[in-house]
Amino acid sequence: MTRRRWIAEHWDEATATIIGAQAEHMARVLRAQPGMETDVVAGGHVFHAVVAAVSPQEVRFNLASELEAEPAMPVTLVLAVYKFDHMEWAIEKATELGVAAIAPVIARRTEKHLAQTAEKRAERWRRIVHEASQQARRSDVPLIHDPVPLSARVRAASVGTRIVLAEQERTTTLRNALDEAMAAAEEEMPTLEIAIGPEGGWAPSEEALFDANGWRAASLGPRILRAETAAIAALAVVASYLE
Ligand code: SAH
Repeated sequence: MTRRRWIAEHWDEATATIIGAQAEHMARVLRAQPGMETDVVAGGHVFHAVVAAVSPQEVRFNLASELEAEPAMPVTLVLAVYKFDHMEWAIEKATELGVAAIAPVIARRTEKHLAQTAEKRAERWRRIVHEASQQARRSDVPLIHDPVPLSARVRAASVGTRIVLAEQERTTTLRNALDEAMAAAEEEMPTLEIAIGPEGGWAPSEEALFDANGWRAASLGPRILRAETAAIAALAVVASYLE
């Protein structure tokens, strides 16, 4: 049986602690006792650990040996803010699929009230990736960037290959774009940034902005996908390519 994995809130070289809902679950539901063995993720490393002290507020572990961790896929998903329930679903699934980071951006067609509340919502997105990482037995938690206007992200300097998914693109598939990225990166794993538009898609001025800043437009096929479907499909294509 695979051991359950806890993602620590605080840690040092020898110990780690979980707090809040995780600690409460471990204390009250699982009735954890000192001496119980489990796996703990601390600072991107996975450890075999032993429970040292239990209360519903805090569980403390002694860290034993370090286990081998699988790295996240080197992908940042640039996700236009759109209907929160759908977007949260995309964030959860992207975490399961191994995304390294998610950068929410305010696009032209992001609804105004969503744009205004996105910043507050980021806390909830961070909780979602924490829980999804634990469930997916990841050894790290994706970084959720603070939401920014699309233009700031598009213009920002980047070391990786930047791809904008667009249903209007007919010639370059995501696979083609990954072939190019691999060729350019030679021996190294390329780092990728992949942008997905809101429900209404990218505005023409945004497509021009991507183009002017060196982003490669790519297609996921002839059908129009919802943004959350596009996110999952894109990460699955990348995974089949890189992993
Ligand atoms: N403008 C569309 C909806 C946009 S879909 C409409 O006619 O209703 C939301 C986002 O998903 C798009 O901005 C794009 O980034 C991505 N997307 C959807 N289908 C795609 C496809 N076939 N290829 C590439 N990207 C796609």
